[in-house]
Amino acid sequence: MDDENSDRLVDLSNRLTQARTEIERACVAARREPKSVRLIAVTKHFPASDVRLLARLGVADVGENRDQEAAAKAAELAADSPPVDVRWHFIGRLQRNKCRSVARYADWVHSIDRASLIAPLDRARVEVGRPLPVLIQVSVDGDSARGGATAAELVPLAEAVLASETLRLRGIMGVAPLDWKPADAYAELARHAATIATMEPSATELSAGMSGDFAEAIAQGATFIRLGSKLLGPRTEVGYPGGK
Ligand SMILES: *Cc1c(COP(=O)(O)O)cnc(C)c1O
Repeated sequence: MDDENSDRLVDLSNRLTQARTEIERACVAARREPKSVRLIAVTKHFPASDVRLLARLGVADVGENRDQEAAAKAAELAADSPPVDVRWHFIGRLQRNKCRSVARYADWVHSIDRASLIAPLDRARVEVGRPLPVLIQVSVDGDSARGGATAAELVPLAEAVLASETLRLRGIMGVAPLDWKPADAYAELARHAATIATMEPSATELSAGMSGDFAEAIAQGATFIRLGSKLLGPRTEVGYPGGK
């Protein structure tokens, strides 16, 4: 490993240790088992080499929000020998014309927010020959400009996922709106998660919480937290070639 990579490994290791300590503290405060919260490292805008280093440090789950960038990194790491073994979580806005690509490498999709995504993902996943665990993204404030189904759309959308052949409904995902207190936003999401769990007993995941508010999300029952800048450092807008 060259000097640049070993410096980065130390940097990532320190950040990861700090994050894990804070996650544990938030779990203790919420009287939850630390094992009940899974950490997703959001590696958007950072190179595949960072995913490789994070995997060495024991990170098993990574999140990406753009297909072009995610597909390139997943392909690069799958070609390592041995291949880098991480689960890819697609957490960004999904376009219909990207579903086929995403279905090839994603282990989870967190951002199902409209029924028109279901058929293309399902068709592609039939070809892959593996079920796809998915979460429905809910817009807490009903402003779907930033992605997410409204509360009124949630149940019909869940029914449509449940009727598909390969998609497996596993829970919901959300982002706290900027003008909401995170605790209020995540309490609202937790209510939606409870609704979904009555429809499908294995749909118990709540993907909520980012670098600035993961403790509040853990307090409201988050099972996946998605940490970007806390683990990888500040993102520049042009951090990844081919990304944006
Ligand atoms: C970028 C991103 C994150 C991580 O954000 P940080 O504030 O850097 O932790 C989490 N969730 C989604 C949907 C994202 O796009």
